[in-house]
Amino acid sequence: MSPIRLDIVTAERLVYSEDVDLVVAPGVEGELGILPQHTPLMTTLEAGEMMVRRGVEEFSLAISGGFLEIRPNRIIVLADSAERDDEIDLARAEEAQRRARQRIESPSADIDAARAEAALRRSLVRLKVAQKRRRRRGENPQV
Ligand code: ATP
Repeated sequence: MSPIRLDIVTAERLVYSEDVDLVVAPGVEGELGILPQHTPLMTTLEAGEMMVRRGVEEFSLAISGGFLEIRPNRIIVLADSAERDDEIDLARAEEAQRRARQRIESPSADIDAARAEAALRRSLVRLKVAQKRRRRRGENPQV
C-alpha cells in the first residue's frame, strides 16, 4: 500500500512532515488507527500518544490535544502542542508533573483545578512517550 503524507503542525512550528504507513492517534472517542486510503474524516484529539510507523521504524509523539483531518492522501494534525519522542525534556516533564500534583493535592482559591489536571495529563503523556522511546532503544526508562 502506498504511504500517506502526515503533517503535524502547532501554532509555533511544523513538527513533522513525512510519508508514513500507519498512524495511531488519540481521538476523543478512543484510539484512531489510520492506514493509507482511509476514508476522509475530521475529529478532535485529546492529550495522548500518537504512534507513527514509517517503513520498519516506529516512533511516538506526545500530543496535548487538537484536531485531525484525513484527506484522500494526507493526514493533517493541528495540535495544541506536539513533541516527538526524541524532543521531550524528561526532567521538565517530571517537574511539571510534580507541580501539577502539588496543586491538585493542596487546592486553594487561586488554583484552577481543571488547569492543574490538564497540566498533569500533559506531563504524564510526555513521560510515557519519552520512556517508551528509551525502552525501544533498550535504555533504562527511569533515568
Ligand atoms: P511546562 O509547565 O513544563 O511549561 P506545559 O504542559 O505547561 O509544561 P505546554 O504549555 O503544553 O507546556 O507547552 C509549551 C511549549 O513547551 C510547547 O512548545 C511544548 O511543545 C513545549 N514543552 C512542554 N513541555 C515539554 C517537555 N517536557 N519537553 C519538550 N518540550 C516541552
